[in-house]
Amino acid sequence: MSRPYAVFVGLPGSGKSTMARHIAEIIGIESADTDDLIVADQGKSIPEIFDDVGEPGFRAIEERVITDALTSFGGVLALGGGAITSAKVRTALRGHRVVLITGSQEILLERVTRNPSRRPLLLNSPDENLRRLRSEREPLYEKVSTLTVETDTRPPIHLAREIHAQLAQDATVIDVKDYAVHVGNHLDHRVAQAASAASSALVVHPEALTEKAERIVREIELRGVPAERHVVPSGEEQKHSSELIRAWDHLGQLKMARDGVVIGLGGGATTDLAGFIAATWLRGVELIQVPTSLLGMVDAAVGGKTGIDTPAGKNLVGAFYKPLTVIADLESLWTLPADELRAGLGEVIKCGWIEDPRILQLTKEPEKLLDPSSAELREAIISSISVKARIVTEDFKESGSREFLNYGHTLAHAIEKVENFTVRHGEAVAIGCVFAAALARECGMGDRVDEHIESFSAVGLPVTYEKGNRQALVDAMFSDKKIRAGRLRFVLLSAQGKPTIVEPTPEQIERSWEAVKA
Ligand code: NAD
Repeated sequence: MSRPYAVFVGLPGSGKSTMARHIAEIIGIESADTDDLIVADQGKSIPEIFDDVGEPGFRAIEERVITDALTSFGGVLALGGGAITSAKVRTALRGHRVVLITGSQEILLERVTRNPSRRPLLLNSPDENLRRLRSEREPLYEKVSTLTVETDTRPPIHLAREIHAQLAQDATVIDVKDYAVHVGNHLDHRVAQAASAASSALVVHPEALTEKAERIVREIELRGVPAERHVVPSGEEQKHSSELIRAWDHLGQLKMARDGVVIGLGGGATTDLAGFIAATWLRGVELIQVPTSLLGMVDAAVGGKTGIDTPAGKNLVGAFYKPLTVIADLESLWTLPADELRAGLGEVIKCGWIEDPRILQLTKEPEKLLDPSSAELREAIISSISVKARIVTEDFKESGSREFLNYGHTLAHAIEKVENFTVRHGEAVAIGCVFAAALARECGMGDRVDEHIESFSAVGLPVTYEKGNRQALVDAMFSDKKIRAGRLRFVLLSAQGKPTIVEPTPEQIERSWEAVKA
């Protein structure tokens, strides 16, 4: 599934097709005009279709062609002038970036009378008809548009550059020490730009991201850099030494030099593996992380931890290795399975608890957090990355505050281990955070247990854990890296809500189980 970079709407003569074409050229992607898609679909010209089936017949064909393009075309799309009169098209446009081009009657009239044959509705009395279309359609354009610009008499490329700058600004850039995380929509060209100084590129990705990987490879090659794809198994299976060796072999065939770049495109498992491949090939080549799962965006790809698993445990072999840049393209979330999106919210809400109460407020509208097109999810992602960015900038190698990011993780890791990693990480974190809140209550640090339960269960994350045997969980917690002198150490929230490290007594731990019992 792909979605257009942007959709242009406007009255006949507004120049929406020209704008779409210019912007596509600036970025290096395709453009399409829905009238041309209809002509290709029907094998007839627009006036012939009007003659054969009339305006209602034409609108029905247009509706189908547009709703298809909105879920399959990844370029810049210009919509036929009357398309938005269809309620179905207006609904299908929700969540898209829709640019409305307006213009004075004089400018539009001059343009439409230059080429009347393409515009059957304006053949007679163009001035009067254009005024009528304006009064009928302008309120509908305004309803669907997310950006409005006014066309003028300058060469169209000037306006196109202005619109492109506005659309590109749409990405938020968050600074981490020495690199930046870009969050926005349709950012493949940024990945290609970041790779354009390299002598070669290898895009490491699982099967599910093939379409996006192909687009990225095309865009990199357009900039004169040889690029190839390297497909890895999905999920944890790829974090295996055999996959590392396979990737090294591919890099050898590609003859990747020190100025090459490895691109990790996928969930956290892929960015972990790709990061370690980049860290080890020729003792380190550039790395671009392109996380495509919510967990990857807010956690795994930010912070420079890379690695693979061994039979002795998860993430036992790895390196701290900083990427050149991280590019979180929110478009990826459209193909992410719903349960993976929900699980990623576990880490997002955890960030709310340790540092950013605004994220907790956002859980009051859970349906928005579960909607890939919502401004609320985008805000939550940016806020979570900002929390992680601030903490890892302060403590890259986890000798101090970085431990706070492990809020809820002592029990979460134990659950994942006991369940043989069949429970998603974010789900385990949700249960672990409720347990941490119960421990804090036991330790006299304030009672926020119910608020924790509410925040995670609002988005459908689990807050109780009934399976598994308690002793196995305790044993698994004792293998946690925060253990010191045989005492379990937890990140808990103080009475003021600040994260701090606490060593509860075995009795306090025992009494806290009650809070997560099913
Ligand atoms: P994952 O990488 O296994 O992805 C989950 C599933 O979603 C996979 O099947 C993947 O192929 C698929 N997928 C991802 N993006 C998709 C998309 N846009 N469309 C369709 N399918 C898509 O799991 P995850 O939850 O993203 O990450 C978990 C991994 O991250 C674990 O290995 C964990 O150890 C690691 N991690 C690392 C850090 C770190 O700091 N390095 C932090 C947290 C987690």
